[in-house]
Amino acid sequence: MTSVARRGVCLVLAAPSGAGKSSLTRALLATEAELSLSISVTTRPPRPGEVDGAHYHFRDQAAFDAMVAAGGFLEWARVLGRHSYGTPRTAVEAALAAGRDVVFDIDWQGHRNLRTALPGDVVGVFVLPPSLGALESRLHSRAGEDPAEIARRMGLAREEISHWAEFDHVVVNDVFEDAVAELRAILHAARSATARQIGLAGFVGGLGG
Ligand code: 5GP
Repeated sequence: MTSVARRGVCLVLAAPSGAGKSSLTRALLATEAELSLSISVTTRPPRPGEVDGAHYHFRDQAAFDAMVAAGGFLEWARVLGRHSYGTPRTAVEAALAAGRDVVFDIDWQGHRNLRTALPGDVVGVFVLPPSLGALESRLHSRAGEDPAEIARRMGLAREEISHWAEFDHVVVNDVFEDAVAELRAILHAARSATARQIGLAGFVGGLGG
């Protein structure tokens, strides 16, 4: 079968915490062979069960600052004013050039800066919960019953949600399987964008007739 060479897609998924973004990302990765996850560098300590090099590259601030100075990040940000997070440049650029897609679990600032760093490559999807009530009950299972902590996290979620209009697509994660199907459809459509198919002119020229 003849195929046209293409540049990979940068699929950015952003969402308020509790909207199910990690589960959606995992489901996509499990079914999309050409998709890999961008592993960010962070200065925050690992949580129980998190593995260096799989969930994040965990580094101290000095190592992070050295990477910033060397231009090693496509984008980086101080998230929630506490810890630094950055997207390493080399792995992403190599994947895109080889026609492989990359999914990013980053926040709205990362999405905005990645669009500037990689013009034309980014497809941004904002994942919404079906309601704030649904988000709150998911947060209860994570944050325990401390009302102050729940209120703090709901405030952060509202702030993240306020950036929805900056994204190309919005997916409501009500029925999980439906949300996964929507994300897959977005990825598949992005692959066939004219500007992404770098071998098109040659392919069309060789069609004959
Ligand atoms: P957590 O510490 O809970 O894993 O992540 C906190 C927030 O940082 C999440 O919203 C996550 O999407 C965001 N984040 C993770 N990696 C990056 C990154 O490389 N760049 C940016 N801008 N945000 C990131």
